[in-house]
Amino acid sequence: MTTTRIRALANQKGGVGKTTTSVNLAASLAATRRRVLLVDMDPQGNATMGSGVDKYHLAYSALDLMLGDVGASDAIRPAADHGYDIIPANGDLTAAEVGLMQVQEKEYRLRAALEPILGRYDYVLIDCPPSLNMLTVNALAAAHGVVIPIQCEYYALEGLTALMKTIERIRENVNRELEIDGLLRTMFDPRNNLANDVSAQLIAHFGDRVYRTIIPRNVRLAEAPSYGIPVLNYDRASSGALAYLALAGEIIRRDERSRNGTD
Ligand code: ADP
Ligand code: MG
Repeated sequence: MTTTRIRALANQKGGVGKTTTSVNLAASLAATRRRVLLVDMDPQGNATMGSGVDKYHLAYSALDLMLGDVGASDAIRPAADHGYDIIPANGDLTAAEVGLMQVQEKEYRLRAALEPILGRYDYVLIDCPPSLNMLTVNALAAAHGVVIPIQCEYYALEGLTALMKTIERIRENVNRELEIDGLLRTMFDPRNNLANDVSAQLIAHFGDRVYRTIIPRNVRLAEAPSYGIPVLNYDRASSGALAYLALAGEIIRRDERSRNGTD
């Protein structure tokens, strides 16, 4: 039995920190000597570029994987020298929706494609697009857990209800195993009263499922992607780098606890 943990980074709202979290959590888990695969499921290809892989020159991408034209082994490549692997994506991935129309079990394409290579990794992270489309459904069908990045602002909770309903529906129809792994407060500014209010509401509502680690607003996190590197390799003393290392530690500890609990 494999102990690989597959997590989807999902929130249909754009700009909440899904990609930033995917890239920097991947790099932080790798820095802790975990074997990590990042799967870019967003046609914007931001996780790909942010990992130092040129999305305009890909031999194979997540689309080829989804359509079954290549196996995962061929689609996987190193994320520059950042210590983790990536299945990259670009705009071609928008064709997946149409390409899969006639395909049987189209919800399970990603899950089936990843199956053969899971033994190579401790963690698989899937960066989802900002919508609840077939790509997101594939990510949620393949995952054990969902990580939901949330920007603590006025409309944050509103979008969360729709996401929770989708996750519930996936659990009922597609993937019984799927858990809400954690809600992650991102771009957090403790001087902002509204942010503190929303944060308190999240904890009141979701309790333990809110990660203790909070990702602060930090300009280094916004700058690093333009160089194609995780923040850890850009400014390892920055508050952003330290926060993502802390998140990696929290996730590893939680997983070890739950593994020991069920043994
Ligand atoms: P999503 O993938 O959910 O659309 P991104 O991770 O791309 O969101 O983040 C949206 C924008 O906010 C990007 O420009 C990113 O660099 C920036 N950003 C994300 N997290 C932070 C943070 N903690 N501090 C400052 N800027 C951030
Ligand atoms: Mg994104």
